Amino acid sequence: MASRTLTGTGATPRAGVGTVVWYDPEVTLPEADEPVDAAAERDRFADAVETARAELEQERDATAERVGEEEAAIFDAHIQFLEDPTIADAVEASIDDGHAAARAVDDAFGEHIEQFEGMDGRMAERADDLRDVRDRLLRLLTGGDRVNLADLPEGSVVLAERLTPSETAQLDPETVAGFATVTGGRTSHAAIFARSLALPAVVGVGAALNDVADGTEVVVDGDSGELLVEPDEDEREAARADEGADVVAAPVATSDGRDIEVAANVGRPEELEPAADRGADGVGLYRTEFLFLDRDSPPGEDEQYEAIRDALNTFPDGRVVVRTLDIGGDKQVPYLDLPDEANPFLGERGIRRSLGPDSELFATQLRALLRAGANGAGELNVMFPLVATVEELEAAIAAVDDAAADLDDRGVDYERPSLGVMVETPSAVFMAEAFAERVDFLSIGTNDLTQYVMAADRENERTGDLHDPTHPGVVRAIARTVEGAHEHDAWVGMCGEMAGDPAVTELLVGLGLDELSMSAVTIPDVKAAVRETEYSAARERADSARRVATRSELHDTLQ
Ligand code: PEP
Ligand code: MG
Repeated sequence: MASRTLTGTGATPRAGVGTVVWYDPEVTLPEADEPVDAAAERDRFADAVETARAELEQERDATAERVGEEEAAIFDAHIQFLEDPTIADAVEASIDDGHAAARAVDDAFGEHIEQFEGMDGRMAERADDLRDVRDRLLRLLTGGDRVNLADLPEGSVVLAERLTPSETAQLDPETVAGFATVTGGRTSHAAIFARSLALPAVVGVGAALNDVADGTEVVVDGDSGELLVEPDEDEREAARADEGADVVAAPVATSDGRDIEVAANVGRPEELEPAADRGADGVGLYRTEFLFLDRDSPPGEDEQYEAIRDALNTFPDGRVVVRTLDIGGDKQVPYLDLPDEANPFLGERGIRRSLGPDSELFATQLRALLRAGANGAGELNVMFPLVATVEELEAAIAAVDDAAADLDDRGVDYERPSLGVMVETPSAVFMAEAFAERVDFLSIGTNDLTQYVMAADRENERTGDLHDPTHPGVVRAIARTVEGAHEHDAWVGMCGEMAGDPAVTELLVGLGLDELSMSAVTIPDVKAAVRETEYSAARERADSARRVATRSELHDTLQ
């Protein structure tokens, strides 16, 4: 037995064993009243900027190779901050006022960070980037001992207060055994990166993590969400043996023959091949807005066409479900000038923007999709995010008609895809039949659906207990959606995080879902769980599950 077990939220369903390396970007600043030589401090600042730029370029290239171009673009954004003349001028003015370079950097960046934080919650990401750049400069200026995340000893388990996206992207899954953080939830950026790297991770462990000393042996169990401190030999062995289920390259069925499609959620072209390698039957959710992030202007029609055609060619015998732009809420795109809203998750997001201020972008995207459908090998399906009304759906379908008419006028080859709706709002659950009458499929987005059914912010750790799709209210919403879809012979899938949890595979199959789509890392486990499920028994159990009144009763039926 481990000497201690700490509990947080599992981010990747893998376990790893290794030795703790604390990552602490805090530095000690020189005293405020220390006399300084302004010319020398200016030179030190210039040298630190040079070194930081070289480091960022090197980390950018390594990340592009290991994770992908989209993630690597974070480092370009950092270089831009590093070169921002307003910040540099403020640092130099502060040095001229008699401050040491490190203090001047801390003050100048601090002001900008505060400004970003003060604007509204959604600018927090930019504040995070600025903090990253500031901490890098401070480490260089104070000679602080810097743990190089990109070059850690084999078998390291990184512990940190929190990790920024750029820090997580530096971790090499070949050498790092996992990480655990004091703060963060399952949908934080660090957790999302961990899943795309298939890196064992536990987030949101709380202050108790600070008592785990450097050099301690630990097991990071991203499945149970536990950190075992000083594990015994059996626990170490179990973690080492956790390779997950074998990859199954072919489609799977339950033991009594019901076919279940198991597909991948992707957001970037680099994720396609790894998804195919882990046995995805196709793509169940292509988050196209990821193609719009970390850049200065939107991708054009040809670039989008090529990205989707590549997806279709990666799965020549499969189905690729592309979601149209889902911007707003937590997904901010600086060049689109999104409005300041008190409740962005209840504001102008998803299809609302595509039918409103982003209608031009929507038209361009639809033309790109229709062209790709005619030229890629796999079967293209297109779905609309955050639909709440039939009117919105009809307007979106009309936009597809318009895109087709435009391409006709241009004499360009295209094919109309099958169309679908994401079920993410309570209204969509109640209107499932009406939607299914008008489209070919529905796909349940449990991340948002849970947030709206339970009125619990998906990003807020404090409501994490309520943001759980195994609450009976959410399970009944899923059951009702499946019935509504099947009433009109539409197929129904699930692409929220719930679909990737093998502990609920039997329940989802029993509720009648036809497709499950998830981060590629969990595909082998879910395929194994589908094959172990007997559909007739699963149906009976699901029937009981949808009638229970409490989450604990529901968990009892899952045992
Ligand atoms: C969802 O809401 O469940 C979903 C899949 O969409 P996203 O996580 O991108 O909002
Ligand atoms: Mg969503």
